[in-house]
Amino acid sequence: MPSKQAENLKHKAENEEKVEQQYLKGKKDEDLGVFCDLFSAKTGVEGQDGGVVSSLLIKGFREGLFDAAIVVRRTEGYNAEAAVAETAEDVLAAKGTQYLRVNVTKKLRELISEGKKRIAVVCTPCEAAVARKIQQTNGRDCEITIIGLFCFEAFNRERLKDELKNRLSVDLDKVGRIQVRQGRFTAQIEGGEVSCRVKDLDRASDGACRLCDDFVCRLADVSVGSVGSRPGYSTMIVRSEVGEKLVRNMDAAKETVDKQEICRVAKFKKNRSKKGFSRLNKS
Ligand code: SF4
Repeated sequence: MPSKQAENLKHKAENEEKVEQQYLKGKKDEDLGVFCDLFSAKTGVEGQDGGVVSSLLIKGFREGLFDAAIVVRRTEGYNAEAAVAETAEDVLAAKGTQYLRVNVTKKLRELISEGKKRIAVVCTPCEAAVARKIQQTNGRDCEITIIGLFCFEAFNRERLKDELKNRLSVDLDKVGRIQVRQGRFTAQIEGGEVSCRVKDLDRASDGACRLCDDFVCRLADVSVGSVGSRPGYSTMIVRSEVGEKLVRNMDAAKETVDKQEICRVAKFKKNRSKKGFSRLNKS
């Protein structure tokens, strides 16, 4: 591995360790990162995989844990953008997972520069790492709550549009909800749904994601995702005191998770990243 690249990876690992020491709580698991609680939950909010993210945000607002939340919402066609939510209604308007890469930390910087100090961010692992950097830079008077989403890869919008048209004869901009679960991509269309293996959409994935090694959002306060839980439920990994406060007395049905399955996917992603780097080195 060229020394520059090795140096970058070493630097990344050191930064992660600093974040773990500064903000996280619990034992460190090789695949899941630092955590103090792990369970599966379903809440009363209707939504993707148990409505857990929306419920956490609504609870956080109700208890005054933050003043604003940055969420990703779908816009015209199948596009997504970072948006600021300040009420439960705003949260519910943005519910559902968008499988595109969205820069939420730009919005975080904007809110901080406007004087907001207590902000929740719902984001992917790559954005969580940037959010922690922003938090470190701003010191103690900036309280950031990170709700991290499990992320295997994001799609490139234009390539996904092409692939869906060619493979499934569907216009991406006209589909309803998209869900990726247990290796299948499913899109709601008028009068039903279409689906295929996620693997078949390989060409549509965002190139940078192949080098990414974090599936479970290791630097979040609470990580949420479908892997490890049965349909209708979400896996929740609580990683900090901030996260504990957010999930405490949460109105949810809880059950145990399939930890092995989460570890399997996390390992798979780490290996894919290693292979991606070694391919880069050979080219
Ligand atoms: S796979 Fe990694 S780089 Fe790609 S969107 Fe997810 S967290 Fe970001």
